[in-house]
Amino acid sequence: MLSLSRQSWLEILAEAWKVYPLEACGLLMAESARSGQSSSGQTGLDKPIKVFRPIHNAAQSSRIFQLDPMEYMKAERAADDAGLEVVGVMHSHTHTAAYPSPTDVAEATKPLVPPTWHWAIVSLAWGYPELRSFRVAEGQGDWSTRSGIAEERVWLNG
Ligand SMILES: [Zn+2]
Repeated sequence: MLSLSRQSWLEILAEAWKVYPLEACGLLMAESARSGQSSSGQTGLDKPIKVFRPIHNAAQSSRIFQLDPMEYMKAERAADDAGLEVVGVMHSHTHTAAYPSPTDVAEATKPLVPPTWHWAIVSLAWGYPELRSFRVAEGQGDWSTRSGIAEERVWLNG
């Protein structure tokens, strides 16, 4: 489940519109497992998103996104300082539905990408923004067959 405040939800949709006709992207951050406020010991799984941070699309494309590496680094450092950690990524689809593309699948299953990450996708294809979220299904590090794609519920928590 992707648990979001109404404010984060609006910020995510606004970013998609703002960057249109290019793909927008950004990071989803939750309270860090190391911040001491969580006793679960989990790595941010299903924890509510506290901060959405837009990141420059280094690809400057309407078909793919690439998180600007320098901004990514800065964002991670700022998150760390604030007791947060990156638990997912958001990007927009300007002309297709809010489902992972073959490129997204390839990205999400790269060895260094945490398999627990939320993959939030905003589609602007129908003239109104639609947000869906996906996960690599547990025990399946490979989306290539599409059987490993799990859509998760998007929950507005206030
Ligand atoms: Zn995509």
